[in-house]
Amino acid sequence: MDSGLDRGGNPSLGLAQRLLAGAGTVVVLTGAGISTDSGIPDFRGPNGVWTKNPEAEKLATLSAYLADPEIRRRAWRSRLDSPTWTARPNVSHLALARLAGSGKLHTLVTQNIDGLHQAAGTDPDLIVELHGTMHQVMCMSCDRRSPMAETLDRVRAGEEDPPCRECGGILKSATISFGQDLVVEDLRRATRAATECDLMLAIGSSLGVFPAAGLVPIARENHAALVIVNAEETGFDSIADAVVRVPIGEAVPALVG
Ligand code: NAD
Repeated sequence: MDSGLDRGGNPSLGLAQRLLAGAGTVVVLTGAGISTDSGIPDFRGPNGVWTKNPEAEKLATLSAYLADPEIRRRAWRSRLDSPTWTARPNVSHLALARLAGSGKLHTLVTQNIDGLHQAAGTDPDLIVELHGTMHQVMCMSCDRRSPMAETLDRVRAGEEDPPCRECGGILKSATISFGQDLVVEDLRRATRAATECDLMLAIGSSLGVFPAAGLVPIARENHAALVIVNAEETGFDSIADAVVRVPIGEAVPALVG
């Protein structure tokens, strides 16, 4: 493992750049840290939503959301003010879109639900949104999907916990909550990508949420090189070829070139 900070505190991206330049196919795994420069806080970083307010985690727990109308009302209220609605892609999202354009990107697996990789211009067919998207809502009874914007208009108009218009069921953002299974096809695609790449580039994730984080050892077991870009330590630093602990907004554009 080569850490950018191990060299007398002088961050070096050199090894990571060489590994990326030498790789034929790259799988990128992104987490909330890539979007903090766009004004969307992460959950577990020093300024994370859950670091500051551990109670907020309940809003993302499926059993609590389904059982308690007050949790749902709070979830919809907090969603109205989400910074996601005005966020723009930042230099790192744009750099990864360039990597996709170069033909080297096998798949971009994201834990993020903000849609900023698509907004940056990465081909949606190359993206797996492992934890779903905030831009849609789904009915927990009939599975009907509809745009988030429509439901937020209903909340603004006074429906505190708007029910499904088709069946009256509970609506929830089309994201994967704690206690909710991932979409089988999404996990299958992401796992296959991890087994097929020459290099996995994990950016802005504490790599503590499974099964997403489990893609990292899968890539490693299949002989891919591993580069981690994250400000804090992750659980997989010890198996990485390079750990780049400099701000993502500097590291990712420098890596991609
Ligand atoms: P996390 O909050 O657990 O970890 C983010 C990591 O990024 C932290 O270790 C933090 O130190 C690092 N980081 C933040 N900004 C950075 C920067 N500018 N430079 C370098 N490092 C930086 O995030 P996670 O592992 O992705 O898991 C959180 C879960 O919450 C995900 O499953 C995701 O679905 C969801 N989430 C998504 C968004 C989003 O869509 N933007 C935002 C918050 C949470």
